Amino acid sequence: MENSETKTCCICGNEIKGYGYNPYPVKEDGQCCRRCNYEVVVPERYRRHLEYQKTKG
Ligand SMILES: [Zn+2]
Repeated sequence: MENSETKTCCICGNEIKGYGYNPYPVKEDGQCCRRCNYEVVVPERYRRHLEYQKTKG
């Protein structure tokens, strides 16, 4: 049996349908929805990646 427990996105607060995404580095724990993953988490990861590249250089 599949776990039918409802998950809530820790960024927008909406119900997560299906699989939740890792919200790091925007949030340390919890899960986020697909939309927040692509609109918030991925751009933030990319931004941090660029800053890391700058400090490294
Ligand atoms: Zn969300």
